[in-house]
Amino acid sequence: MRLHSFYIDGSWQPAPADTALDIINPATETVVGSVAMGTAADAQAAIAAAVSAFPTFSKTTVEDRIALLERVLACYKARYDEFADAIRMEMGAPKTLSHEAQAYTGIEHLESTIAVLKDFELEVPHEGYRLRYEPIGVCGLITPWNWPINQIVCKVAPAIAAGCTVVLKPSEYAALSAQLFAEVMDEAGVPKGVFNMVFGDGVEVGAAITSHPDINMMSFTGSTAAGVAVAIGAAPTVKRVSQELGGKSPIVIAEDVDLETIIPECVWMCMENTGQSCNAGTRLIVPAHLHGRIVDLAVAAAESYVVGDPTNADTQIGPLANARQYAKVTGLLRQAEAEGLSPVTGGPERPEGITKGYFVRPTIFTGLSNDQLISREEVFGPVLAILPYETIDEATTIANETPYGLSAYIYTRDAKLATKWSQDIRAGMVHVNGAPLVPNAPFGGYKQSGNGREWGVHGMHEFLEVKAIMSIDQDGGT
Ligand code: NAD
Repeated sequence: MRLHSFYIDGSWQPAPADTALDIINPATETVVGSVAMGTAADAQAAIAAAVSAFPTFSKTTVEDRIALLERVLACYKARYDEFADAIRMEMGAPKTLSHEAQAYTGIEHLESTIAVLKDFELEVPHEGYRLRYEPIGVCGLITPWNWPINQIVCKVAPAIAAGCTVVLKPSEYAALSAQLFAEVMDEAGVPKGVFNMVFGDGVEVGAAITSHPDINMMSFTGSTAAGVAVAIGAAPTVKRVSQELGGKSPIVIAEDVDLETIIPECVWMCMENTGQSCNAGTRLIVPAHLHGRIVDLAVAAAESYVVGDPTNADTQIGPLANARQYAKVTGLLRQAEAEGLSPVTGGPERPEGITKGYFVRPTIFTGLSNDQLISREEVFGPVLAILPYETIDEATTIANETPYGLSAYIYTRDAKLATKWSQDIRAGMVHVNGAPLVPNAPFGGYKQSGNGREWGVHGMHEFLEVKAIMSIDQDGGT
């Protein structure tokens, strides 16, 4: 698979530069293709196309845009299995996960955006003025590799719903699904220049989009370090920057829960997608007197997983997504060892019987305090930290002692305690007793987990400007 063209102004344009990155299947470490790495000039061509499409597209009716998104949805559904296969191949998500969860997010975000647009009031009368929501303009979208289609669609769909034109720079480590998505946009008949996509890295293409004066808004998902670089690069042109960044989310367990049921659920919340979810629950905060029992249950859960070949329908945990992530996770595990921490299960080596691929074993560290490496760092791998607490207030303090604030998970039968924790823990999303994410609920974080909210109505507002129209009629009325 040679992905050596960029989708610009409604057609595939050959990449002028000959720099390319190998696409590597992380389960086998074999090269399955290559993706061209764009330059600042490619980004500029895509931005120019989006700029010239904006005046016409921003004036299309809501009905037109609903019809367009419905065509995108139909084309996406027609190629659904290809998306699941592409995600499995490019980042190693096991077959069941890529088919039932990863690829499905594309449908979810398209459907929920269409529903939001159908109900959205773009003009709202108020006392003395009218509020008008208008598309913010030309948007730069930068996405990561861990839930690649989720992050592309939850930006592109609301941007188009709002009447914006976009330049997408997907992760250089998830080019296969991005390529398919651009093909779907083309098949759906998105007007030329409305959706543009350039492959490349963050430092060259990402930075060129971010700093460009014709880009009115940046929507970024990725690491906190890159999110900061985007905010800095965008500042001189005073554009809106929406950031969805890292996390180190707490799971807080009260003493009144059924541990046999809850603990395996909690361990899975950390390990699913090989621990590569920004909202993964990675710090399990438990009553000190139950620590030993909880550790036994957690270890049993971690050691029960089928780790291995992502093409096998029974596999629960695949490899880490790429060589860079493998080096990061194994490096942190070795650093933890060097600091005297040893896991009760797992570690940086490949699981028994696996000799190649970016696999690590589901790993658990116990009895940690919040200032230790594994409790602090976003590992972004299948690594769980278990931290004991003595009092409810101490549990809250531990949960909040992190620069991040994306998600929090709370387990208790006590409704008052659930309310207290869900109010006191500073995170953008709180899940009580295993409640799942809801596609219409705002997704995003406090503190260094980001600025802004995606999904549903909140996701649509990211791409809209607000205009207040105060007017006096000629007859003197307001
Ligand atoms: P990353 O920051 O390395 O890359 C993300 C994207 O940013 C890529 O497209 C990359 O090319 C680009 N990029 C990198 N440096 C850039 C720069 N200086 N300027 C502009 N663009 C730049 O992150 P990753 O390794 O792809 O993804 C993992 C990270 O993403 C984790 O920290 C995870 O928590 C975070 N994430 C957050 C959310 C969320 O919604 N909060 C969702 C998924 C992933």
